[in-house]
Amino acid sequence: MVTFTLPESIQKLISELTKFPGIGDKTALRMILFALRNDLSFFKNLGEAFINVYKNIKICKRCFNIAEDDLCEICKDPKREEGILCVVEDVGDLISIERTGQFRGRYHVLGGLVSPMENRRFEDLRINELKNSILLYKISEIILALNPSMEAEATALYIKDFLKDVNLKITKIAHGIPMGSDIEYLDEVTMAVAIKERRELE
Ligand SMILES: [Zn+2]
Repeated sequence: MVTFTLPESIQKLISELTKFPGIGDKTALRMILFALRNDLSFFKNLGEAFINVYKNIKICKRCFNIAEDDLCEICKDPKREEGILCVVEDVGDLISIERTGQFRGRYHVLGGLVSPMENRRFEDLRINELKNSILLYKISEIILALNPSMEAEATALYIKDFLKDVNLKITKIAHGIPMGSDIEYLDEVTMAVAIKERRELE
């Protein structure tokens, strides 16, 4: 019986690529073989692009968005409305909301939601950072822009309780959208309505 062992460098690349969600061994190998059909410099460019991210990308000190400096482009922008913070689960949601162009305030990236399933507690979120930011930047309203789910509702209630001594309005975006739908798929019009019709957290 003939057994063929993949070259070590390819095996190593496969083991890294399969860390992406949805990429298994077969898909990773197919991607690599596809790339090998072209100029090998593709791998060099890809590697350099990854290294550049490693070298240059930081987490914004104020809002926890991705940045190339201590502060992200949004936090550095003097034209942004002060006093209002949009609280999102992750950077992906921040980018989705930014793309709609319907929110002109600043953000706070929580870094997850409370989830017993994933063993994530309220203290594991950037919640002290949220409070500090509210006090430091004299925030008068936070808008919770969380994807509708049980975890989001629990997280919202924890936030409300955690901030009960802070003089602050806490609202959440209006979800004309059913439970389980994603901020990622909101278009400009839906987002505009979701923000305009936000209501105070009960
Ligand atoms: Zn920022």
